[in-house]
Order: sequence, then C-alpha cells, then structure tokens
Amino acid sequence: MKIIGIDIGGSSIKIGLIKNKRIIKKYYIPTNKKTLLDDIIKSFDDNKINLKNINSIGCAIPGFINHKKGIITLSGNLDWKNFNFKKKFEDKIKKKISIINDANAAAYGEYWAGAGEKYNSIVFYTIGTGVGGGIIINDKLIFGSNGYAGELGHGGNFQNERKCSCGLNNCLEPFASAVGIEKSIKEITKKNQKIINVVDKFLKNDKLILKAFRKSLKPLATHISIMETAINPDAIIIGGGPSNIGKPFAKLINSLVKEKQLDFIHKKTPILIAKTKNDAGILGAAYWALKNN
Ligand SMILES: [Zn+2]
Repeated sequence: MKIIGIDIGGSSIKIGLIKNKRIIKKYYIPTNKKTLLDDIIKSFDDNKINLKNINSIGCAIPGFINHKKGIITLSGNLDWKNFNFKKKFEDKIKKKISIINDANAAAYGEYWAGAGEKYNSIVFYTIGTGVGGGIIINDKLIFGSNGYAGELGHGGNFQNERKCSCGLNNCLEPFASAVGIEKSIKEITKKNQKIINVVDKFLKNDKLILKAFRKSLKPLATHISIMETAINPDAIIIGGGPSNIGKPFAKLINSLVKEKQLDFIHKKTPILIAKTKNDAGILGAAYWALKNN
C-alpha cells in the first residue's frame, strides 16, 4: 500500500511517497499560492508517481482546518479563508484527500513513525517560532470540541514577564518558543545569539546559557507536569529546532519537570526528542490519510 503525504508550508511544499511507514521518495516544490493544486499534480508526473498505484493522499496545512469537511477555515500563511480544499483537489485528481492541521500532522507523524512508535498515548510539543503540539490518546488524535486541542502554547498562567503574540499575558509560548529562548539568552548573556550558535556552550554546561534555557523552559516543564497528571501519557515528545540539541535538551526539561511533579508519576513518563524532524508533517499527513481511507 502506497500513500502520499503532502506538507504544505508558506514557502515550500514537501511531498513524500510512503510505503510501510517509510518514505521511499521525497521532494520539495516551491509554494505558489495561485497555482498550488496544479503544481502538486504536475509534480506527481515530474517525479514519476502514478496515482493509479496510490491508495490515499493526506495533506498537512497550517491554520484552522475543518478536517471533517475538508475545509480550510483560515490559513493566514496561504491566504485561504473558508476554502474547500478537499473538494477542489478531489475534483482535479479523482482520489480521496484528507486534510489536517500541520502541528497535528507532526504529532501523528512522530507517533506513527518516530519516537512515539512503540507507544499508544503521547503528548507532542513542537518548539519553533511558537509552541504547538498534539495529543494522541490510544491512537486517536484529540481535536476537542472545536478543534483547538493541542494548542499547547497558549492560555493559563505560566509566566508573568512577557506578553504573548496571541494577546494573552501569561502563556508559555513567549518563553519556551525558539524566539523566547533566544530572548532569554539575550537577557542573561547581554548578547544577541541564535540557539544554533550556543549549542556547544549548552553541551559544555556553560552557566549563563544553561540559566537562559532553564528560565525559558520552566513554563514548558510546568505545562508538561500538568499533562502528566491530566492525561498520563506513555511519553512526552519534544520536536522543533531546539530539540536538535538532542538528549541533553530532553534531560534539562526532564530535570525541570521533576521539580513540579510527583516522582512516581514523572519517572514513568519519559521525555523524548522527536526523531522524524522535517518529515513529521509528511508522515503524519500520510497516517491521517491511511486512517481515513
Ligand atoms: Zn498565547
């Protein structure tokens, strides 16, 4: 059985052909908002993908998605509002299409073919410009009543220094996002430094760099400790740019969670680094398509 997973981003579209949970072909095309669907269809021909051999197609899309109806309620990145993506695409290629929000897709990808492969229930956090995520319980992604489940970066009272881009004052996102971590690094070291340029210092236990990371990740750790008792997942998985630091990054988060959770609960909930990296969206979109087939 072959599935196509498509991860639509603001500047490029990643397309993968998947068989037995593994990507057997992968390529990128640029995102052109006006010709997007035709570009994707043309790319199948260009890359010798015969739709006759494809069982299902899944698309990961940034924004608010009505996954049941296949309608994009709002995608700021792609200028779509109440756009019936599923119908438009299906009319053109005569194949069933499934759509899902990109952060949710990444959670599913990591669950299906990444660090979550051997677990049934996970909470996935992705740390990028913002903080997003996804919650999977017994193989089911939790969408919630109105589709907002997994918006892990917002709401609550996790810090009281930085206003969030969503308008609230106490979200964890302005601290734990990559942007937030870099802000803490600047505050504490008095220097503008990208995360990628301080990885060496992090690994060598540089005091100021660790202090900055600790400051930024404490609100995330508080959130994780809440999820550990709210959901009691098999594992917590961390993805996104800063997670490329690897195990020491997970270890630091783990030590911060330990301060906020009962030992016997925290010890049974491993905090893992995501494995599928940039392929999470493709894999998750494919798994979503498979489940909807
Ligand atoms: Zn917020």
